[in-house]
Amino acid sequence: MTWKTLDDMDFAGKRALVRVDINVPVENGKVTDTSRIERIVPTVKDIQAKGGKVILMAHFGRPKGQVVPEMSIKHIAQTVADVIGGNVNFVSTDYAKATADMASDEILLLENLRFNPGEEANDVEFAKRLASLGDIYVNDAFSAAHRAHASTEALAQLLPACAGRLMAEELSALEAALGRPKRPVAAVVGGAKVSTKLELLGNLVTKVDILIIGGGMANTFLAAEGYHVGKSLCEHDLTDTAQEIGEKAAEAGCTILLPHDVVVAHEFKAGAANSTVSVDQCPDDAMILDAGPESVAQIIAVLENCNTLVWNGPLGAFEIEPFDKATNEAARKAAALSKAGKLISVAGGGDTVAALNQAGAADDFTYISTAGGAFLEWMEGKQLPGVAALSANSETVSDTI
Ligand code: ADP
Ligand code: MG
Repeated sequence: MTWKTLDDMDFAGKRALVRVDINVPVENGKVTDTSRIERIVPTVKDIQAKGGKVILMAHFGRPKGQVVPEMSIKHIAQTVADVIGGNVNFVSTDYAKATADMASDEILLLENLRFNPGEEANDVEFAKRLASLGDIYVNDAFSAAHRAHASTEALAQLLPACAGRLMAEELSALEAALGRPKRPVAAVVGGAKVSTKLELLGNLVTKVDILIIGGGMANTFLAAEGYHVGKSLCEHDLTDTAQEIGEKAAEAGCTILLPHDVVVAHEFKAGAANSTVSVDQCPDDAMILDAGPESVAQIIAVLENCNTLVWNGPLGAFEIEPFDKATNEAARKAAALSKAGKLISVAGGGDTVAALNQAGAADDFTYISTAGGAFLEWMEGKQLPGVAALSANSETVSDTI
């Protein structure tokens, strides 16, 4: 897949309609985390530096096609202005006039796209109205790219289109990890359940050379191999599925690595009394909460021999000490190898990002995706409509203009 970037477009004197994700958390009327807004700044500044005018389009919450006053973008407009540090003006009505009369340094922030039912319906008429407000479409919202909405899909067909800086960075990182990776490629998949990651596992075994399975989901794979996992989190009804994934991996030449030794406890609680046992020694009344030191050593050896790593899901119950140990150690190793230029490492997932931050490893990973659902769908091998539309556009619309 190919897509254009800001560098391929001529923004001089043009109005850029920029789809962004500024769906920030708000508590008691205050934005508690401005990261999402910070990430769009390079795109905004670069368009302005190229002589373009910026019109920001975003969703906020889930108003489901209705005007819900609490979900108005106006509540975050001041924060957007503060973070971008520019002349940001929120507009809720008469977009045509506002966009026609824009001052050159002005940034317009449109009302919540999802107030209009046409947005989530990917309605062409709504997309046409949006298209009439600008000259160039820029998508900088990778995290919304797994949804075919008017502002992510239909609109990309109507104007010359390109990826913003954030989107381009994310796509390049993902492409380097699974598209055209430097082999050998390893994947770490952990977390709670196999059931939430079936498609992801099915796709990864066809793409990576070695699949390291950890966390609660490893228990289902261990049970499928006949091990007793006691009271561990385990989806016993999915042991057949685990076996099928194992067969698919074998056919594709992918090695699956399961824990060799495990840390068991009687309670899911921080500081719970625990012991390390071989996987065939889990007591009937205990649960597996982490991978043991031998398993960690094996994982580290794999990382040392790989050139690329994709990671989703912690290796243990990382929220409760000391069951964060395997995750911390493997994460720190991946971070150190990445920092030394020996590994390309890409990670994503809500708990994964939290776990890597907790391990102090996040900064040295090559790329940490905060895109949530879009990242997971990409790991599942799905085509993301927002990305596909940009790619199709780069082959048609832009070339003819
Ligand atoms: P992500 O959000 O990164 O996709 P998941 O939601 O799949 O990750 O998994 C994270 C959860 O998995 C954490 O809450 C963690 O406590 C849980 N988990 C990991 N290992 C175990 C285990 N052995 N037993 C129970 N829960 C576990
Ligand atoms: Mg999670």
